[in-house]
Amino acid sequence: MLLTTSATARNVCWRCQYLRPSSIASAVRPTAIQLSLKNPPKSLRSYAAPAGNKTELKHTRNIGIIAHIDAGKTTTTERMLYYSGFTRSIGSVDDGSTVMDYLPAERARGITITSAAITFSWTPSSGEGVGASHLINLIDTPGHADFTFEVERSIRVLDGAVTILDGVAGVEAQTEKVWAQAGKFGIPRVVFVNKLDRDGARFGETVREVASKLNGWPAVVQLPLYETGRGGEETLRGVVDLVERRCFLYPGGEEAGRQDVRVEGFKWLEHTHPELYKEAGVAQEALVELLSEHDDVLVEQFLELGDASLIPPEEIKKSLRKLTLTGDGKIIPVLCGASFRNIGVQPLLDAVIDYLPSPLDRPPAEVSYALGQRATLEIDTPRTCALAFKVVNDPKKGPMVFVRVYSGVLTKAQTLFNTGLQVRERAHRLLQMFADEAVDIDSISSGHIGVILGLKEARTGDTLVSEHAVGGGAAGTGGKKGKQAGAPQKLDPKTMHLRPIDVPPPVFFASLEPYSLSETKNLEDALSMLLREDPSLSISTDPDSGQTLLSGMGELHLEIARDRLVQDLKAKADMGKILIAYRETISAGTSPSHHLLDRDIAGKPAKAAVTVSLEPLEAGDENEIISIVEETYEDPTTGETIKPKLPPGLEEAEIIAALSSGATAALARGPHLGFPIRGTKVELRVQPATDLFPELSSLAAISSAARAGVQDALAAAEMSSAGIIVEPVMAVAVSCDEKDLGKVVGDISANRGGQVLSLGDEIEHEGGEIEMKRVYVPGIGAGGRKSGGGREAGEGRKRVVNARVPLGEMVGYLKHLRAATKGSGTFVMTLEGWERMQGPRAQKVVKEVRGEY
Ligand code: GDP
Ligand code: MG
Repeated sequence: MLLTTSATARNVCWRCQYLRPSSIASAVRPTAIQLSLKNPPKSLRSYAAPAGNKTELKHTRNIGIIAHIDAGKTTTTERMLYYSGFTRSIGSVDDGSTVMDYLPAERARGITITSAAITFSWTPSSGEGVGASHLINLIDTPGHADFTFEVERSIRVLDGAVTILDGVAGVEAQTEKVWAQAGKFGIPRVVFVNKLDRDGARFGETVREVASKLNGWPAVVQLPLYETGRGGEETLRGVVDLVERRCFLYPGGEEAGRQDVRVEGFKWLEHTHPELYKEAGVAQEALVELLSEHDDVLVEQFLELGDASLIPPEEIKKSLRKLTLTGDGKIIPVLCGASFRNIGVQPLLDAVIDYLPSPLDRPPAEVSYALGQRATLEIDTPRTCALAFKVVNDPKKGPMVFVRVYSGVLTKAQTLFNTGLQVRERAHRLLQMFADEAVDIDSISSGHIGVILGLKEARTGDTLVSEHAVGGGAAGTGGKKGKQAGAPQKLDPKTMHLRPIDVPPPVFFASLEPYSLSETKNLEDALSMLLREDPSLSISTDPDSGQTLLSGMGELHLEIARDRLVQDLKAKADMGKILIAYRETISAGTSPSHHLLDRDIAGKPAKAAVTVSLEPLEAGDENEIISIVEETYEDPTTGETIKPKLPPGLEEAEIIAALSSGATAALARGPHLGFPIRGTKVELRVQPATDLFPELSSLAAISSAARAGVQDALAAAEMSSAGIIVEPVMAVAVSCDEKDLGKVVGDISANRGGQVLSLGDEIEHEGGEIEMKRVYVPGIGAGGRKSGGGREAGEGRKRVVNARVPLGEMVGYLKHLRAATKGSGTFVMTLEGWERMQGPRAQKVVKEVRGEY
């Protein structure tokens, strides 16, 4: 099957070249060829095969694209859809017509902000899956730092990821961050170096950065192929496939984007591009050597054959696949191209099939149960278990819940139990999404992704299970791989959660004001939809003004939430200025004080008492609540020690829970400025003999007493106020051109009260365990100067400033940085901790919050 040695040019249709009817029949339906945008064929409806269909699962890829903003994620996705036959014309992010970025807010901003899943099929032109139609579920992940939480949320439902790098900018800060997040979940990744058509593109340097910044060995499987024009200018024409030893040449000019690609062998390369041909030999050897170092099977073949170029392509692919699938990111397949010029996209899709895992290649999902019990969920467990990884409100269809099914089969009209909300809901309709076209399906089986319509409550992040295992057997096997638990399980499926992720505390908020009183209900509905979509947003009410406050992770996060509310969900409301969500803390403790509640609650007399004391912790610490029900009581008159009884109907655990919830409510709003309290230890004590009263001390009464008691204590503690405001402090990494370094550093340390920790140098940056000397870096031969020449020589060299800066000083920083660096600077920040705020800055915040300006 060596098309590679052919010396004559051939025009082949990428998709059709290997399609044989027999292999299609046994493969996944549908095939890309039959797909038409408006009229999906009937066969689509039954694509979801019964669980346990191994062939079908083997031909499935659930992948995501992770990239720094502007690296070309949307453009590449568009081209993938185009070549898969799904879209007829090529969309362009620049004129706002792309299929993937379908929310108006995203189109207007030209960035991708929300994860949506999209399905298409691909038939690879070579490799083990050759000729078989594969189903690719592409899950879009957001590229902006404000959406870290959303990135993690979508990453955990992926089986593999394509990381797109900008060949001019190299590995950018945001990419490092998302790379690490994907590493945390053990997601196998391949790298696509994009934009190699641009002036200043440096493939070699970018490969070097893959090693130094992503801390893995780049397995370079392609080289860019440039052609030199008469004036010496270089144009990217195609890519060299080092594994199959062939070249792909793409039509340019008017023909660009055509499906057919010219394929040439290495003989052609030797004649026309002798230098690149030599480099390809070096690269091939480097690839085989790298794989041999990590793969015993390949090293034997290498030793036997004695020549890297003699090792069959299938063996190289098998080895690279095996090493990539470990998910540790130690060996990283590196591909190249320019998706805007339609170069290299089909081989990238082949690589998705070749090197990224099918659901069967992934370890079973981790689940947790009540009381901290953990187990794993095998893909062939009969009980239906799915994760709602995204909720999006569609103006026509209503809330669409995107799910990944981890076990069992999700069928149309099935009743599901939502373990997060503890409610039962019916999955009225099931859909498969083809960009913004949806197709009704009857079932979604284990390992697949789809959409449920008709769920009224499910939120992003909820786990949905069937209450009864379909076809017998137990859920959550808890056992080792391959073992269906036979013994009765104590694990209650109604408490099952699929890998929950931590939501960091919101650091920005803004008030929302309906245009009129009659719009209040509308706003509330829109808000509840928004919160179902994005659990990293939260709402609260300002008890003084009655205003609704919306809190989130960043300025952009709230701005986009506002756009969603106003433009998409049609809420008629204004959002106030975006402010920082400070915290309050106490600076000194209080001695125990007794608080008696004695009043009516909901028309019934209520009475309970509690003793509260406070103690300051470090300002950055979370609050600690200790609730104690005293076990003994010393009678003050007789001096006798007795064991008091609890009033009838009350249990100790319930009392403790009521005390804690009362204290939590009080801590949500400090007495000084109305910000939540942080860094405070609260101790609540109840003496049943004197503090609880039969009939009168309901749980509501106890909780109210705790709340009022803590509020009083906080107000008393506040008297000695010094440094009572706590502010979020961010770890900031600014990436800028060398020439702007001084400006950026000066601004951070002099104007923003930041502390510069280090000046990362992209060249010196150490690759951790990677010995940089031993990394193969494509040289001059691989496409002339565009890929040669170190970044150090040019103005494209980037530096990274790492600093700690109070969040308050980072408001509006993106605009400032863009202006100061002529648009080349970018930054990422994450919440590092909380610190007490003092001096004039604190006074300024107090004045602002109290409206004293
Ligand atoms: P995203 O933010 O990662 O989704 O990136 P986009 O796909 O929106 O692309 C950002 C910008 O880069 C757009 O203006 C694209 O037209 C441009 N772009 C994307 N890929 C390429 C490429 O291969 N070459 C060139 N020259 N520009 C590209
Ligand atoms: Mg985009």
